[in-house]
Amino acid sequence: MKTRFSQSRIARKRRRLNSPAGLAASLIPPRPTLTRLASAAKSCRACPLWRRATQTVFGEGSPAAKVVFVGEQPGFEEDLAGKPFVGPAGKVLDKGLIAVGIERSEVYVTNAVKHFKWEPKGNQHMHKKPNASEVAACLPWLHAELKVLRPTVVVCLGATAAQALLGKQFRVTKQRGQLMPSPLAPYVTATVHPASILRAPDDVSRHQEMKRFIEDLQTIAKIIHSVPLGSDKRRDRSYGHDYL
Ligand code: SF4
Repeated sequence: MKTRFSQSRIARKRRRLNSPAGLAASLIPPRPTLTRLASAAKSCRACPLWRRATQTVFGEGSPAAKVVFVGEQPGFEEDLAGKPFVGPAGKVLDKGLIAVGIERSEVYVTNAVKHFKWEPKGNQHMHKKPNASEVAACLPWLHAELKVLRPTVVVCLGATAAQALLGKQFRVTKQRGQLMPSPLAPYVTATVHPASILRAPDDVSRHQEMKRFIEDLQTIAKIIHSVPLGSDKRRDRSYGHDYL
């Protein structure tokens, strides 16, 4: 006969499985690889965002990537192409990577939310920020990507990704560029989303914002070009911040 304790545990488990995050987690294959994850995410319906989007836009990059960049969500171009960071913000990121000597082959790019959230404005698809429950619903996919990749550095691009991975109290404006203790990777940090640089009001401030973005990327380049692949630090899951 089941005790009251075990019944409440079962009820809790049921609630968890029926939650949006539980629904996404239930789709994660038992022995995940990036290819298997991307394929499983195609059929995700754990939150309403799939309804308006063209397709799931999963992360992309080398399975041996040392750095994972996490943005907010795919944009209009990404939604059509089915690939992350191929639009204007992706071009800003590429420019920054070139400036600090990080190769694309060292990088994996993904988003906190895998479907494009938008609302119609005339005949345009206007980007709409995903809400907390949509971000929470999608989080199992991001955690699964990080678990497979085991990168040296995770870089959150913008507040949505930073708060999803580092907590709601994290403020990109105040804490950008800082290395944060996290079980996700040896080095976890955040900077602005490249799209915010494009939204700067004039050329002077855009130039200043790009300069600061490149400074943040320089810290990351310094880390990954000093930590050899397969080093003990990379395998150690109790990450501290004794670097830099
Ligand atoms: S946004 Fe994420 S959780 Fe929501 S349907 Fe798409 S893949 Fe699933």
